[in-house]
Amino acid sequence: MSDNDEKKTLGVRGGPRSGNVKQSFSHGRTKNVVVETKRKRVVKPKTGGAAASGSESARSQAFSGDSAKRPAGISDAELERRMKALQAAKGREAEEAARRDAEEKQREEERQRRREEAEAKEREQREAEERARAKAEEEERKRQDAEKAATPAAAPAAPAAPPADDAARAPAKQPPRKQDKVEKDRDQSRGRGKGRDDGGRRAGKLTLNQALAGGEGGRQKSLAAMKRKQERARQKAMGGAQEREKVVRDVQLPETIVVSELANRMAERVGDVVKALMNNGMMVTQNQTIDADTAELIIEEFGHRVVRVSDSDVEDVIAQIDDSPDALKPRPPVITVMGHVDHGKTSLLDAIRDAKVVSGEAGGITQHIGAYQVTTSSGTLLTFLDTPGHAAFTSMRARGAQVTDIVVLVVAADDAVMPQTIEAINHAKAAQVPIIVAINKCDKPEANPDKVRTDLLQHEVIVEAMSGDVQDVEVSAQTGQGLDELLEAIALQSEMLEIQANPNRAAEGAVIEAQLDVGRGPVATVLVQKGTLKQGDIFVVGEQWGKVRALINDRGERVKTAGPSVPVEVLGLNGTPEAGDVLNVVETEAQAREIAEYRQQAAKEKRAAAGAGTSLEQLLAKAKEDENVSELPILVKADVQGSAEAIVQAMEKIGNEEVRVRVLHSGVGAITESDVGLAEASGAPVLGFNVRANAPARNSANQKGVEIRYYSVIYDLVDDVKAAASGLLGAEVRENFIGYAEIKEVFKVSGVGKVAGCLVTEGIARRSAGVRLLRDDVVIHEGTLKTLKRFKDEVSEVQSGQECGMAFENYEDVRPGDVIEIFEREEIERKLD
Ligand code: GDP
Repeated sequence: MSDNDEKKTLGVRGGPRSGNVKQSFSHGRTKNVVVETKRKRVVKPKTGGAAASGSESARSQAFSGDSAKRPAGISDAELERRMKALQAAKGREAEEAARRDAEEKQREEERQRRREEAEAKEREQREAEERARAKAEEEERKRQDAEKAATPAAAPAAPAAPPADDAARAPAKQPPRKQDKVEKDRDQSRGRGKGRDDGGRRAGKLTLNQALAGGEGGRQKSLAAMKRKQERARQKAMGGAQEREKVVRDVQLPETIVVSELANRMAERVGDVVKALMNNGMMVTQNQTIDADTAELIIEEFGHRVVRVSDSDVEDVIAQIDDSPDALKPRPPVITVMGHVDHGKTSLLDAIRDAKVVSGEAGGITQHIGAYQVTTSSGTLLTFLDTPGHAAFTSMRARGAQVTDIVVLVVAADDAVMPQTIEAINHAKAAQVPIIVAINKCDKPEANPDKVRTDLLQHEVIVEAMSGDVQDVEVSAQTGQGLDELLEAIALQSEMLEIQANPNRAAEGAVIEAQLDVGRGPVATVLVQKGTLKQGDIFVVGEQWGKVRALINDRGERVKTAGPSVPVEVLGLNGTPEAGDVLNVVETEAQAREIAEYRQQAAKEKRAAAGAGTSLEQLLAKAKEDENVSELPILVKADVQGSAEAIVQAMEKIGNEEVRVRVLHSGVGAITESDVGLAEASGAPVLGFNVRANAPARNSANQKGVEIRYYSVIYDLVDDVKAAASGLLGAEVRENFIGYAEIKEVFKVSGVGKVAGCLVTEGIARRSAGVRLLRDDVVIHEGTLKTLKRFKDEVSEVQSGQECGMAFENYEDVRPGDVIEIFEREEIERKLD
């Protein structure tokens, strides 16, 4: 049937349009007959119609005609019957004709449809190619547009479809008759996302087939379109880049960045970023830090733009807000006591505190935190820095912390102006801080306050008694004479200064004192200067950062907040800052960490630049000279500069004529590969005090046979070195590391406290073993485990590669990224040399 149709289609194609000749050729077939009939019918319905209409005139005409030729012997009745029969036959014929006509019509339509279909098919093929091409171009343009605009587009698919359609529609316009059909087909295939893909795929396939079979002009085009299509599909499969390129972000990239922060800045899922890193061969967790080059690769892979920020830009998050005058509220003045040695600074500070704090608040336990507050009889609150002396004042100023509002210059009445008095005057003047003179030791018989006043004239300190504007008060730290007057003078001075600060902003303060407390970890006394420091605030202070775990005031009481001019002890630091370091509250831990890391790096570079004598080559050269005296070379790495210095000092004291300890190198931080290299070259052991070797250093030490020893008590270290120097190393109880685990997550479990979800990365974790918590290869805590869990069960051991839950006995400050070192003690032979 289809064959016939096709043939006929070919034969008839021109027929109905061009002429009727052809139709007579094909009369042998039913259909062709019908064609003819149709032609007949074109005329016939009119005659037939007239006859069928049964008009009287027509009928009579026919009758008369017939009667003329009437065969003989036929009665009228017969004639009439015959006529009727004839008419009936004619009617049937007409009916038949009409039926055929209808049939023919139908068939004609059918043929027409097939023709259209065939043409549409052809066209579709062509259009599919064009569409694919247009799509590819469109896609390309879209991507560029998106990059340009960098604004979020509505739905990912929506803007993609219409332009492609338009592009396809354009060439289809020439034959409008077919357009609808083509459109319909396309619309159907576009209906769903999948359908659209199918259409695209079919187009690709057809094009290829056609290209192979037909060799039409579109061959090259279609192959290129195929390639583009494949390329797009691959990109899609790789990272769903198509959807993401809609929002192109400018990603601020510092020198190093924590993976989770990177994901955050790109507004991508952390998991995706980690996956992308893995694809690039970087096995990292979300809490690990990666370098800018790696991060850049990832940012580009995700289709975002990299904005490299200079290292120091990380500090920009510390808001430099200029407080509006309305926001400013009066705050207590901060007073520093200065003066020549032995003129009574400490005595005076103690006298003021004792008089005002202890007696004023019965039972109050004063606590030395580096500063205290007192209230004058008139009710003014004053903050005294409890660290007298110029060194503190200048070092604070040198570090950018100008905390002092008023200087109390102590001059002993029995000694008058001395060199350090002059120095103090100069410091105060340089800092443009007003002076109040306290003429001390006035209880002494030989006291001569006037001499002090006149002496001061020479140094441009003109006291009120000499018609100047500098207040002077005669006091005695011993008897307490004049203390109240001194405090009132300070209160008056501060009133004149209009000392103000905005308490309603992110806190900023200065470190007055800081130390590593055995029980509490690093503790810093901070004098809040602006804003209010609150429990839970995240801050960066010097090279350290932290989150306020607790605030303790100068009376040893826990407080929730500390406003301007209030000195508080801050707990929750991750390291010990230095006096004079500025504390800034920031918004996120990531920011705080980033700033602290940047500062550490900068400080390290500064130190390296300053101590040019510490390069490896020079150290080696130094170690090799002076061969006469046998020496025990060592390398020391410690958690903080203070411990490193203490150890080096202790080391220098060890030794006699024959042997001496030589510290090849000492430093702060993890033991690195370069430390191991130096140790190997000099045959020296590496002594780590509260620090650990990082992984490459450990491997390198194992390979090279370099001994690394870890200590957490300075005396142990010193004893070991002493024993080694005198060749007396005996057996000792030493600890053996049996495993390492990395904290992946931290959970809070009621009744247990903080539980660290860990992955045992090396060796085994044993419930009974000792544990240390390492943060950046520095020992933060040492103790025992409260629990070791595998899934829900308490277990005694967990093997490497397995996950487990650990909680420390009496210790909670665990964070993701921390490493737990698991060790056991055993007796071994000493061999430190
Ligand atoms: P600083 O070095 O400036 O801190 O001075 P100190 O506070 O240590 O005092 C030095 C010495 O002076 C100590 O022996 C004090 O007892 C003594 N001293 C301090 N103030 C007075 C005072 O007002 N009267 C008398 N008689 N002796 C004082």
